[in-house]
Amino acid sequence: MIIKDKKEEFEKYLKDESNSKSENIEKLYIPENEEELINILKKERSFITIYGSGTGIVGGATNNKGIIISTEKLKEIFIHKKNKIVQVGAGATLKELAEELKKYDLWYPVDSTEQTATIGGNFATNASGTRSFRFGCIRNFVEAASLILVTGEKINLKRKQIISNNLTFDFEINNKRIKFDMVDLLQKFYFKNSAGYYMKKNMDLMDLFIGSEGTLAIVTDISLKVMDMPHDIAVFLVYFDSKEKCFEVIKELKKIEVPYKPLSIEYFDKNSLTLLNSKLNTVDKRAAALVFEFLIEKSNNEEKIYMFIDSFFARYEIDSKDIFMASSKYKKDFIFHVRENLPQIINEYIRQQGLKKISTDFAVSDDLFDEMIMIYDNILNGTKIPYVVFGHIGDNNLHINFLPKNDKEYNKALELYEILAGEMGKKGGTISAEHGIGKLKKRYLKYMYDNKIIDKMREIKKIFDSEMRLNTGNIFD
Ligand SMILES: Cc1cc2nc3c(=O)[nH]c(=O)nc-3n(C[C@H](O)[C@H](O)[C@H](O)COP(=O)(O)OP(=O)(O)OC[C@H]3O[C@@H](n4cnc5c(N)ncnc54)[C@H](O)[C@@H]3O)c2cc1C
Repeated sequence: MIIKDKKEEFEKYLKDESNSKSENIEKLYIPENEEELINILKKERSFITIYGSGTGIVGGATNNKGIIISTEKLKEIFIHKKNKIVQVGAGATLKELAEELKKYDLWYPVDSTEQTATIGGNFATNASGTRSFRFGCIRNFVEAASLILVTGEKINLKRKQIISNNLTFDFEINNKRIKFDMVDLLQKFYFKNSAGYYMKKNMDLMDLFIGSEGTLAIVTDISLKVMDMPHDIAVFLVYFDSKEKCFEVIKELKKIEVPYKPLSIEYFDKNSLTLLNSKLNTVDKRAAALVFEFLIEKSNNEEKIYMFIDSFFARYEIDSKDIFMASSKYKKDFIFHVRENLPQIINEYIRQQGLKKISTDFAVSDDLFDEMIMIYDNILNGTKIPYVVFGHIGDNNLHINFLPKNDKEYNKALELYEILAGEMGKKGGTISAEHGIGKLKKRYLKYMYDNKIIDKMREIKKIFDSEMRLNTGNIFD
């Protein structure tokens, strides 16, 4: 086990990608395995913050007291090829998991974009991302998890093992009786929501832990369902001279059903393309662009898929010079690079300004697509603060990122953020579809849930962490 108690030796663990910083941290622990982690928890009486890879963008892995435990060594991966299950250590990154699965011709389709993120971090935030349009979030793939409570007690939980009776959980685990009530959130966003605890009637206990941002337990390993590696994925980058035409195409792409249903539909507004163009001159400055992917499951349906795509584009009279189809690995890598590069350029800019990231992660239901666009346009149109809009438009989950140059603009951007959050809340939208609440988005949770609901979440935390020591400050105070 590695233990560091001199701040200068563990600087890299004191921030996340939102540029949130930890203060007053006493020690960093890097356990080699689960047993060492349990021993730390049994001895430590301090506040504990869990650090995966620090790619989170809501300050969840940062804190202003106690110790930090990094999961980076919990990396073991066991593949059960026959039943298509992978048991993966929480500290393994998405990239490491994909590389291991590839050896067995298997595939985990949830792609939360940033490949250095850990699976534990993905579990804790109920991550989703580009391909959630077709496959949803990590929640849909979790079959089992090892959960360690702040006391060091271990819970081995399987999906369907413990189901609530209506809104009450009442079960015995490790010879202890646990009973608590929930409230029904009646939310439309069960398919993509990372704002607070998941609560509904007759639910699986596993779903309470997924997306709880490390406030209930530390996950050490996770069994995920995986799929056969597809024969290929067709990737397209399409430019538009008008935003309206782009939205028309999006609506039609959304209607396509399986087996042709796209894996992802990703949007880039004019400002995103201009920013990308300033760094990568191979990207065009246009009114809008889409990146989308189609799954080619078997070689024998390859031709059918391409014919389908051809006829789709023909209907929308999109000029062939505006369609960039990735027929080779090189071109695919280029498109993925464009998609991954934009948030990285933004995060780098925010770090240079010494500010914290201001990025929305709202989502609304499909019937509210036009209203969502109208609200964004109305609120953003007059602003002088630079911003970009991009993201998972297939899920109506766009990220508006403000790029303030100074504190004045930063504060103004926060005001706009607050107005946007209020509007999304009124529409029954989520204020965090995939990134979580962490510390940065706590003040906006009220636009989704009233105090009674937030108090209920706090009560549930106390059941699993009576002293409120684990990942304290995430989701609620
Ligand atoms: C360029 C970029 C693009 C991104 N795109 C997406 C996207 O498309 N979709 C998406 O969902 N996210 C996206 N993210 C956000 C981020 O990658 C995810 O939130 C990811 O799940 C965080 O994983 P991590 O290992 O870095 O966790 P960290 O940042 O270290 O931690 C995140 C939270 O999880 C908790 N945590 C971590 N590990 C554990 C554990 N083992 N047990 C309990 N709690 C734990 C932490 O305490 C913290 O609260 C993006 C980030 C970047 C930088």
